[in-house]
Amino acid sequence: MANELIFLDAAALAAQIAAGDISSREATQAYLEQIASVDNNVHAYLAVDGERALAQAERVDAKRAAGEALSPLAGVPLALKDIFCYEGLPCTCGSRILEGWRPPYHATVVQRLLQADLVILGKVNMDEFAMGSSTETSGYGNTHNPWDLERIPGGSSGGSAAALASFQAALSLGTDTGGSIRQPAAVNGLVGVKPTYGSNSRYGVVAMASSLDVPGPFGRTVLDAALLHQAISGHDPRDSTSIDAPVPPVVAAAKSGDVQGLKLGVVKELGGDGYEPGVTAQFEHALQVLQAAGAQIVEVSCPHFKYALGAYYLIMPSEVSSNLARFDAMRYGIRVGDDGRHSAEEVMRLTRQAGFGDEAKRRIIIGTYALSAGYYDAYYGSAQKVRTLIQQDFVKAFAQVDVLVSPTTPSTAWKLGERVDDPLAMYKADLCTIPSNLAGNCSGSFPAGLSPDNGLPVGFQVMAPPMADDRLYQVGAALEAGMGSTLSQLVGSEAWEALYV
Ligand code: GLN
Repeated sequence: MANELIFLDAAALAAQIAAGDISSREATQAYLEQIASVDNNVHAYLAVDGERALAQAERVDAKRAAGEALSPLAGVPLALKDIFCYEGLPCTCGSRILEGWRPPYHATVVQRLLQADLVILGKVNMDEFAMGSSTETSGYGNTHNPWDLERIPGGSSGGSAAALASFQAALSLGTDTGGSIRQPAAVNGLVGVKPTYGSNSRYGVVAMASSLDVPGPFGRTVLDAALLHQAISGHDPRDSTSIDAPVPPVVAAAKSGDVQGLKLGVVKELGGDGYEPGVTAQFEHALQVLQAAGAQIVEVSCPHFKYALGAYYLIMPSEVSSNLARFDAMRYGIRVGDDGRHSAEEVMRLTRQAGFGDEAKRRIIIGTYALSAGYYDAYYGSAQKVRTLIQQDFVKAFAQVDVLVSPTTPSTAWKLGERVDDPLAMYKADLCTIPSNLAGNCSGSFPAGLSPDNGLPVGFQVMAPPMADDRLYQVGAALEAGMGSTLSQLVGSEAWEALYV
């Protein structure tokens, strides 16, 4: 039997901690027990940091007892994707090459979580260096979708989503380069937001593709995600791409959910053939709910979105090949062949050969090729031009509508193993999410109930202009009010019971 405390959403838990009805220690203990009960089956966590979590919880309880002011999420336990530097705890980024590496400092977003008195339970699984859509490229085994343990939890932030959906954390943090927060949120029935590029610091976040990466929140409710968004956001002088502007009013928007008169543009190019019928059905149902709440629905065309996947798979690997060059056996992680019989170059080669998985190698090779003399203009240069065209599609669309909408991903969670030998099928999971990364605007996935085809969660994607992140939460909150919670349908179901076996 699960401790009832884990079912409280983060906002409610924080309120009860602040009121002294529950201690943060009790809540943290309840989550550690849930991890002990179900993570054998889910395998979301790579490292649990129980002692430090309990000590942090006790500090929050002491603050409360002393009558000190508490932040809106003080005492709430959370899980970190294993891409964030958290001093002292191993940071693997899902890769064997970083095995055993312990960061000597905190990422800015982690620092902010600690300042806001959140409790960090541990680090969770992910695709290797955030490359993948199923968490199967992790060097540390598969994570399972709590709705059906034989299915993928999405990726690359699959551990963040699975931990939250199986109530092994009250909140979690991920990163999104091409869809890695939104797609796992969609297939787990969660809220997941990719904030505006540059609005959340990348300092201390292991880089995948620096012009696309952004940290962002997962929540079980729209308000929870907004509170976490608020806690981590804001200018950071340590990140040269950080935007120096006030954080959009995301919490107020999540509380209001007023979409009266808001114009929603349905992107014509993101739907139809190739989308699961149940995904399309739930998407349309969600549109009706929003219309009933007062939103206006129009169709919008973004003609260059169809080239987004192609452009992404040139720009992203180019940046990956350069970012992953730092894993050279000299500075971080494992070292292979350092026996006095191999040259430094051989040690480097042997280490990279042993430490990187197939997907990382594939992308390093593609990126190195796309950037090489003679091919640079034809591949990387062209892809950057397409990126501009996609950005212009957004600008034109946002001149007509307040937000754009689409399904988050064309399908529900597929079976583990089903796409591992077919990288192109895997890449298609991000068809709808990638345009927002290329343009740098914000975008979120909100639960849209269960597919009538297979009873699995479907996500509804909302895209808004840069620094208009509040609009995402406004629409998300209206959807939540009209459709009810998707995740609550998991608790008590057969799938839920299976987590405890
Ligand atoms: N699935 C995409 C990829 O494999 C996106 C990953 C991400 O957002 N980190 O590149």
